[in-house]
Amino acid sequence: MSIYFDHAATTPLRKEVKTSWIDAFETFGNPSSLHQYGRKAKAAIELIRRQIAQDLKVLPAEVFFTSGATESLNTAIRTAVLQHPHSRIYCSPIEHHAVLDCAEALAKAYERELIWLAVDAQGVLNFEILEEARPGDVLLAMGHNNEIGNRNPLERLSEWALTKELIWITDTVQTVCIEQLPLDKLKGITAIAASAHKFGGPKGVGFLVWRTAFPLRPLLLGGAQERALRAGTENTSAIVAMGKAWQILQATRTAQREHLEQLSQALKEQLTTIPGMAFNGSQDPVNGHPGIINVSIPYEGKTAMLLFQLDLNGLCISEGSACTSGSSQGSHVIKALGKDQKGRAHLRFSLGSENTHEEVEKAVQILQKCLTAASKL
Ligand code: PLP
Repeated sequence: MSIYFDHAATTPLRKEVKTSWIDAFETFGNPSSLHQYGRKAKAAIELIRRQIAQDLKVLPAEVFFTSGATESLNTAIRTAVLQHPHSRIYCSPIEHHAVLDCAEALAKAYERELIWLAVDAQGVLNFEILEEARPGDVLLAMGHNNEIGNRNPLERLSEWALTKELIWITDTVQTVCIEQLPLDKLKGITAIAASAHKFGGPKGVGFLVWRTAFPLRPLLLGGAQERALRAGTENTSAIVAMGKAWQILQATRTAQREHLEQLSQALKEQLTTIPGMAFNGSQDPVNGHPGIINVSIPYEGKTAMLLFQLDLNGLCISEGSACTSGSSQGSHVIKALGKDQKGRAHLRFSLGSENTHEEVEKAVQILQKCLTAASKL
């Protein structure tokens, strides 16, 4: 069995989740139907909504089921940008493309000023420019970065967003996997987004928390599902399966986090044996992600070739975001840190709850073996 260290891209479907997903196929009624089959499906969905709302300390009416974080973020960002005619968009340059591309497209289409936050060589953002922000401006800054693991100062940003009356949308896809995120204490957050497949659930399902007085602008028009704010028949079984994955996450998150911290500590120590290796991102454990380690290593040639060799030898990792792995542009995150990309490969190891110390040791051996083989070519 190959070692899977790519959990930031997606996680394996948990066994219990698979069972609950399959069982939920029987709940086939259309949740909008008034008869008993419809009511049963509706009840199953509402139960998950209440659970998620309770854990995040928001109202059930503030939770919307979607096809995942990309849809959640696009819906939220579009709503936020269109809310005030002269709003400006403050955006971190190291957001996921689901945020970056959406912000850029909206700024262009609606002639809004897009202001990039400054980022240093460790990927730490400078938020001072927000001093100039006006009420109604939009802030796009994620929880944890999916490539380098950096955590933005959510607590401080929340205060800032409240004081400045900003509409702050934060991509918490990676964050909810490792933090409780009590939104009752983070009142400056307008919206968060999550995808079930990042925490042991199915792909193509997620949620958006939207908690402000003005309503969402639906991306899709049609039926009156999700309080007429997200048209289309709900994917009942996937929502139920996400609910199961979420439930398991709540029960195991603290233990999982400790496990990840130990594994990543061991992995970091072993990686330092690779000549010329440098870590990317903040190495401060409080402001990082316990399961995401990003390194640059000397390597002549295409990173894709090294990843291919690693895979052949039993180690599955990636360069960065899975969404851009087909592009030849390299990582926009590493680029934003001002790192020289020439003669170096950038590798992301993202660990998960099922990984072991033996796998960590073996992974570094595989990497060393592939680098030695490459150096002889
Ligand atoms: N945001 C972050 C930080 C992610 O890691 C991802 C997935 O890679 C997304 C957004 C998009 O999630 P999805 O592809 O499930 O819509």
